[in-house]
Amino acid sequence: MSLNHVRPWRNIYRRKSRQVMVGDVAVGGDAPIAVQTMTNTLTTDVAATVAQVQAAAEAGADIVRVSVPDEASSKALKEIVRESPVPIVADIHFHYKRGIEAAEAGAACLRINPGNIGDEKRVKEVINAARDHNCSIRIGVNAGSLEKHLLEKYGEPCPEAMVESGLEHIRILEDNDFHDFKISVKASDVFLSAAAYQGIAEATDAPIHLGITEAGGLVSGTIKSAIGLGNLLWMGIGDTIRVSLSADPVEEVKVGYEILKSLGLRHRGVNIISCPSCARQGFDVIKTVEALEQRLEHIKTPMSLSIIGCVVNGPGEALMTDVGFTGGGAGSGMVYLAGKASHKMSNDQMIDHIVEEVEKKAAELDAAQEAAE
Ligand code: SF4
Repeated sequence: MSLNHVRPWRNIYRRKSRQVMVGDVAVGGDAPIAVQTMTNTLTTDVAATVAQVQAAAEAGADIVRVSVPDEASSKALKEIVRESPVPIVADIHFHYKRGIEAAEAGAACLRINPGNIGDEKRVKEVINAARDHNCSIRIGVNAGSLEKHLLEKYGEPCPEAMVESGLEHIRILEDNDFHDFKISVKASDVFLSAAAYQGIAEATDAPIHLGITEAGGLVSGTIKSAIGLGNLLWMGIGDTIRVSLSADPVEEVKVGYEILKSLGLRHRGVNIISCPSCARQGFDVIKTVEALEQRLEHIKTPMSLSIIGCVVNGPGEALMTDVGFTGGGAGSGMVYLAGKASHKMSNDQMIDHIVEEVEKKAAELDAAQEAAE
């Protein structure tokens, strides 16, 4: 449950799942919902991949996935793992040897479907490598690559086929007494994904990795993910998320966080509340918000800031934010601190001033948090 119980209409009751570890990040149970992304560099280009992992981690990624398509990538993975500030998941398709190599290289988790990597002996080898190296597994069912026998049985990718595929992979791991796994049942179609996820959420207590696969570009993919993932998270389903965008991994992390922030499931950085602006605006709201978003990227402390064009909604929004600015007349506006009108500030100095006020408030909140620990 989120911490909003004083306002029961904000409660989200999370599905009870068992917990697995991805390196030092707990996934499932009462752990915070982890945000993931995936690199799109050549894994063999260690410097580029490490730079992308670091940028994603800096933006808030808890876990980063890296593709391991060949032996050279397995070798590079070892260095990437060593340099990475967050646990690395190795993405493996079909090649059981890559799975073994990745576990040996220090991957914290293998994304692999045990039913697709060959005979029982090979499956056992991969599972043993994972076990020996403290590596968890993510079963990644995808509507676009369902097993032939399931497509024949159901005629097309459908939620039932995806759940059955997931349960078949789960059975293989459990038959090998391996329980450190999570599961995803992704599709690019929001309805199919949502139905498959609801089905798998009922059928297993494994932690669930949420994602709408191949969601699209920054805008369309963000909307699809916000609808699909947002609805599932609202139902309490999902222990870790990845927003798939044809965009920079850092954007995926930002969007993932915004979805969680909107639902009160996680908080990080400055939540900016701003009006769309209109003829009443006392300053250029859109340009100001764009500038502040960039200037405040470094703040990790959860806090809120309202940037409102005029007094129609400004004082009301400022009441509920840590720092606020409301446009007024004559080239200046009112700065609000902790909901109260504090002092006037001229429009041409307000961006620098708001950044200072936010930094000050963040330091205050950090100190209070440290004192409470
Ligand atoms: S708060 Fe004021 S400036 Fe902003 S949209 Fe509303 S009326 Fe327009």
